[in-house]
Amino acid sequence: MCEFCHQHGDGRKWYLQAENYAADLSRDLERREYMIDFVTGFDSRMKRDIPLLETIAAAPVPLRAAFHERATVRQMRDHWGQPVPIEECERIFGFATSIVQVPCVCRHFAGAPERGYCLGVTVLPMDDVLEEAFRDYANGPDTSPLQRLTKDQAMTLLRRAESEGLMHSVWTFRTPFIAGICNCNLASGCMAMKTTLTYDYKTMWKGEYVARVDESACVGCGACVDHCPFSAMHLTDHGPAGADRETCYGCGVCRSVCSSDAIALEDRADTESAAVW
Ligand code: SF4
Ligand code: SF4
Repeated sequence: MCEFCHQHGDGRKWYLQAENYAADLSRDLERREYMIDFVTGFDSRMKRDIPLLETIAAAPVPLRAAFHERATVRQMRDHWGQPVPIEECERIFGFATSIVQVPCVCRHFAGAPERGYCLGVTVLPMDDVLEEAFRDYANGPDTSPLQRLTKDQAMTLLRRAESEGLMHSVWTFRTPFIAGICNCNLASGCMAMKTTLTYDYKTMWKGEYVARVDESACVGCGACVDHCPFSAMHLTDHGPAGADRETCYGCGVCRSVCSSDAIALEDRADTESAAVW
């Protein structure tokens, strides 16, 4: 279990605990303000932070370490996420009474076309917060009325995203409140992946799972290698695919694209070589 499961999941998976979606958390005024500020200030924050992160990346190790330590504490408190396999996304939708397609802040920042792949997932409709947060967005789904999905529609969306090699991730807004599922990868402009993987500024933690390949079932087609968002799959010299379990984020995209049913997800906590989040 990751430290969030210990802190916010009572030793079970934190994102499968109903209290982390609770109505009283979503009514909290400070949190609602934070969500609005998060969206409305996203572009200017990124324009400011990316050059800063590039400078920090070139700084001496002690300075870099001190910066990352403080940044990690802040992200854990305010906003962080973790890849989640699709079957657990379905369980998350089971907690929600409101699933809303919202514009993607990362695509907006990157100037990339909107795909409708970001979902606001709450137990209370938060249309007022979302309308205020996305008031300046011109390229997103129509937010008036907001695009509300059924759980079946949301699962269809996730399957489509997964077939395009996108991973699912779950996000807090003022931890432990969970209010979003994203479907993205680095190529689609995910800033969380970019800051985490490119600048070592941790916004995204590894998921609770890690991939294992059954070599006897693998036909060496390479689909998992092509689709892994974290470049954690490779074809071995002797043919079948192999997962670099220390690099793997446990998203499950490789498993879904494998037509030979050769990939399983194992609990990261039980996997000694990969049990670091
Ligand atoms: S190896 Fe599979 S589970 Fe691991 S990060 Fe890549 S696609 Fe996700
Ligand atoms: S997608 Fe499946 S069959 Fe193809 S290389 Fe990967 S594990 Fe092997």
